[in-house]
Amino acid sequence: MNETRLREEICYFGKSLFDRGLAFGSAGNISARVDDGWLMTPTNSCLGRLDPSALSKVDLQGNLLSGPQPTKEAFLHRSMYAQRSHTGAIVHLHSTYSVAVSVMADVDPQQPIPPLTAYYVMKIGKLALVPYHAPGDPSLADAVREVAGRHHAVLLANHGPVVAGKDLESAVYATEELEQTAKLYLLLRGEKVKLLAPDEVAALVQKYPS
Ligand SMILES: [Zn+2]
Repeated sequence: MNETRLREEICYFGKSLFDRGLAFGSAGNISARVDDGWLMTPTNSCLGRLDPSALSKVDLQGNLLSGPQPTKEAFLHRSMYAQRSHTGAIVHLHSTYSVAVSVMADVDPQQPIPPLTAYYVMKIGKLALVPYHAPGDPSLADAVREVAGRHHAVLLANHGPVVAGKDLESAVYATEELEQTAKLYLLLRGEKVKLLAPDEVAALVQKYPS
């Protein structure tokens, strides 16, 4: 996909996420890989009102090439890209249901959301919970880098999800799958549920590696 089209796609998906309440205010950011670096949503920008000609473009070292300064959370994206050479795009949101799971006191750090549906397993697989670090603290970048090689989706405790995909559409759809499954999980709290069995999960992971 050429850069012009990719810029339009970032704005399209940003507005789509905003219009449905998955992003709000100036929360949330999107990045996508280009030949000479990355496009990123600018600092303090609203995902509902992005301009294709006013996105931030940074080089492979994170230096600004054009446009306004990138999101203050650019380091989250760069930590993921550094560990995932096939990642083409990353979405980070403060979406309500995923954040709700991330603040639960009894959440299982090995499996913050259990395998409720096949599509959750196919699009997210094994979600990593990253312990709380203050936004912007370098220790958060280190914590994300530590798990990003093994997980394309991470949930930052008391903060929100960061999801990588081979392209922007994949990253957005996986983020939406995570948010809706978090909602489903919270709806089912207190109910007796039948999770996918370990062999059913293993068969999906083998057929649809993430
Ligand atoms: Zn954030």
